Amino acid sequence: RRLLSAQVRETFLRFFERSGGHLRLPSSSVRPRGDPSLLFVNAGMNQFKPIFLGTVDPRSEMAQYRRVVNSQKCVRAGGKHNDLVDVGRDVYHHTFFEMLGNWSFGDYFKEEACSMAWELLTQVYGIPRDRLYVTYFGGDLSVGLEADDNCREIWLSLGVPAGHLLPFGMKENFWEMGETGPCGPCTEIHFDHVGGRNASALVNQDCPDVVEVWNLVFMQYNRERNGSLLPLPQHHVDTGMGLERLLTVLEGKRSNYDTDLFSPILTSIQQGSGAPPYRGLLGKTDTGHLDMAYRVVADHVRTLAVCIADGVYPGMSGSELVLRRILRRAVRFATEVLQAPPGFLANLVPTVAEILGPAYPELKQNTDRIMDIINENETAFLSSLQHGRRIIDRTLQQAPHAREFPVDVAWSLHRNLGFPLDLISLMLEEKSVGLNSAALDQLAEEEAQQQAENRQGLDADKGLLLDVHSLAELQRRTVPTTDDSPKYAYT
Ligand code: ATP
Ligand code: MG
Ligand code: MG
Ligand code: MG
Repeated sequence: RRLLSAQVRETFLRFFERSGGHLRLPSSSVRPRGDPSLLFVNAGMNQFKPIFLGTVDPRSEMAQYRRVVNSQKCVRAGGKHNDLVDVGRDVYHHTFFEMLGNWSFGDYFKEEACSMAWELLTQVYGIPRDRLYVTYFGGDLSVGLEADDNCREIWLSLGVPAGHLLPFGMKENFWEMGETGPCGPCTEIHFDHVGGRNASALVNQDCPDVVEVWNLVFMQYNRERNGSLLPLPQHHVDTGMGLERLLTVLEGKRSNYDTDLFSPILTSIQQGSGAPPYRGLLGKTDTGHLDMAYRVVADHVRTLAVCIADGVYPGMSGSELVLRRILRRAVRFATEVLQAPPGFLANLVPTVAEILGPAYPELKQNTDRIMDIINENETAFLSSLQHGRRIIDRTLQQAPHAREFPVDVAWSLHRNLGFPLDLISLMLEEKSVGLNSAALDQLAEEEAQQQAENRQGLDADKGLLLDVHSLAELQRRTVPTTDDSPKYAYT
């Protein structure tokens, strides 16, 4: 039996192949190629960056692309787009997700892009029009950017009622890949899951009732190192729609975890752990964080499988460090909340490969290797986890009324036992104990500086002339810079 997710993915690809002859391309690896500004591929457009920048080799195949469609494996767990902390807490942000996208490289522009998107959603997928809300760029005069009134006109002409058309500013409707790179104003389509009369007030409010599904970006600028926006040589269209969110809409569900991309994994989690069944509860009603654990484990095992299949292994710096954090979070939720036995996580991989393998054959081809690597890393962390748990419990017992956990103890869990900082705060949050993360960040910062100085000394010893520029570059490449990521590679 073919999964509905497979049909929905295929329908998207075929629609654009047939509409104006888009060329279907495979997903690129989640490991960015030759782009140190990214930890992971975080959008479908990443692999086309040279086209946007006009740096593509004119003799290459890529230089011939005019209209393209694909389904891209994306990871958002570091850098500018980091959704790790939302995972498990909500039902529509994942660390790994599939982005369905169509592109025009210097070919069609806003009008065709909007009308094809509207036709696909309302006529092919049959989504009721009155449940859709559309945002467009309302301009920002402080940076000299005007409102995209042309975009608004186009949507009106396609039959979107004025009350469903909403202007937003830079944060929501100006898409940027990273700190630098191609960017531009965008228009986004949101789905109202409830059919509520005040749905327009819930757009872009991070509310599960009205969820963003599709982003259509009009790529016009490049964000330079100094922060300025330079016009790109040509105008392009770059769209991205989350398959998991679209499927939730089409299956008439309220949570991505209730769709066929996730529910077989939840079943395997239940069977492998013997935990009480998944209830789909969120926040305070989710006693013991049981459902959150289900969601985190299901999300993280997909990300681990996809990354390892693409050659990103849990490790000590950059994207590999992020993957190590993801693995440790998964192991912790599996062991402490679901009470799962060792080896449990790796045993979920065949289910993931079953669901995603038809679209991404590398998951089927590498299943054994993925399982081995997960098992090795799980073993390496399990004894530290037990040890750390004892330290946490003992510390809490010694000061039963303390509202804050001692920073030095948290730091040693991190430094000596390899606990990701965000995992420590999660574990303490469960005990309703606070943690001074600013102080921890400070410690991490100092350590990073120390390491940089050591590196500089080392290079000087080797008689290498290292200018300030390349040192900064080196740090930028090896050190994740988002607030919640550790500022250095712990050992
Ligand atoms: P959100 O505001 O919900 O965080 P976004 O604006 O960051 O989404 P875009 O960068 O516009 O997302 O990406 C295009 C589409 O990819 C989104 O409209 C959404 O359908 C999907 N998407 C983005 N981030 C995630 C995620 N973490 N998990 C699942 N789908 C996602
Ligand atoms: Mg986001
Ligand atoms: Mg958004
Ligand atoms: Mg968006």
